[in-house]
Amino acid sequence: MAEAIKMVAGKLEVPANPTIPYISGDGIGPEIFAAAQTVFDAAVLKAYGGQRKVSWHKLLAGKSAYQQTGSWLPAETLTALKKHLVAIKGPLETPVGEGHRSLNVTLRQELDLYTCLRPVTYYQGTPSPVVAPEQVNMVVFRENTEDIYAGIEFASHTKATEKLLAFLKEQGQLAKVRFPESSSFAIKPVSSQGTKRLVKAAINYALAHDLKTVTLVHKGNIMKQTEGSFRNWGYQAASEFGDKIFSQMEYNKIKEVEGLAQAKQALNQAQAAGRVIVNDLICDNFFQQALLRPGDFDVIATLNLNGDYISDALAAQVGGIGIAPGANINYQTGQAIFEATHGTAPQFAGQNKLNPTSLILSGKLMFDYLGWSQAADLIESALAEAIASHHVTVDFAAKLKEATTLSTSEFGQYLAELI
Ligand code: NAD
Repeated sequence: MAEAIKMVAGKLEVPANPTIPYISGDGIGPEIFAAAQTVFDAAVLKAYGGQRKVSWHKLLAGKSAYQQTGSWLPAETLTALKKHLVAIKGPLETPVGEGHRSLNVTLRQELDLYTCLRPVTYYQGTPSPVVAPEQVNMVVFRENTEDIYAGIEFASHTKATEKLLAFLKEQGQLAKVRFPESSSFAIKPVSSQGTKRLVKAAINYALAHDLKTVTLVHKGNIMKQTEGSFRNWGYQAASEFGDKIFSQMEYNKIKEVEGLAQAKQALNQAQAAGRVIVNDLICDNFFQQALLRPGDFDVIATLNLNGDYISDALAAQVGGIGIAPGANINYQTGQAIFEATHGTAPQFAGQNKLNPTSLILSGKLMFDYLGWSQAADLIESALAEAIASHHVTVDFAAKLKEATTLSTSEFGQYLAELI
């Protein structure tokens, strides 16, 4: 009988027949979801021979929910997501107009899904705009609940902005606003709790996956109290891991007191001992280095807005948003939503053409998260084989010299057969 996944004493308890809610999404969502589901079921069947099975439970959200229920995010959907802890979704159309927030942002905040996890992996054969995409292998931990995404904004020429301007004047900050009469404002909350739980999750991930470095990416040279604090709180969080990590802070201290040679030696020893190296980089420099020396990075921990840009820029190096998977996770409560990272591509809806890989790889991530790693590995190897032999959807085929172009559903079927 199907049962809910539970969090017991800080660990996920996954029954052999878990109920997993899904939202197939709007636009191309239903097509890519159907293709992905074929692949998931084939992988679970092959891995566990019927001993384990997912009971898929459809939930409504987005435009289809609005059309059927009059609500973009029905209360039953939120209740079911909370009850079953782990879910997977396709893209949702964001309602346009005043007062509507993005449904994805709402879900992340309602369920406190503070980590946006975006692994960036290159699969041989994928068309890429860079010379050595195989060097790109990173996992981005983007803070998902704070920063400018809090949505606290004040429009110019309003009563609220007048009050804000008066407050700035009182604080002696008004002169810093170039055109106060016509300015709008946004508030950027960044907290030590929010930063530390994110950075700890990133370091735990690096430790669990035997990865060498965690890089804190920020713009602390300009936004000292928010992004600069992210860096400082990040290092504080790292120090709680004791000798499992070695930080750039420790390196700098040794350099200052004992000299450069000693610091380098300490770093070498830490690397040899398998300690995770925690360092930091200013965001603009990171963008350069990610193109010039992508092999230097394993795990990236960053704030919400930087993470948004970084994950799409890195995804572009390994094949674009059609292939990049994503997850939104709260590691304390266990609550997680795995999702395609692209949008609804409405102009392609109903054509059975686009790439279901982003959702398929999100499913692979989900099975890893559930501890069903055999199913996850089967999905990944089938996908790698299909791409290596250039059996791909039109977005990849158009960029390859020779390719067999498959429709969305044929691609799903092809992977299921490879499994
Ligand atoms: P989009 O990602 O839907 O499409 C942009 C372009 O990317 C498409 O024209 C297509 O060329 C390409 N693309 C997208 N998905 C692809 C796939 N699976 N395979 C191959 N190519 C793919 O972005 P948009 O046009 O800016 O947004 C359309 C709608 O989607 C909006 O309503 C937006 O709010 C929503 N959206 C939702 C999510 C989400 O639910 N996570 C994310 C982004 C945008």
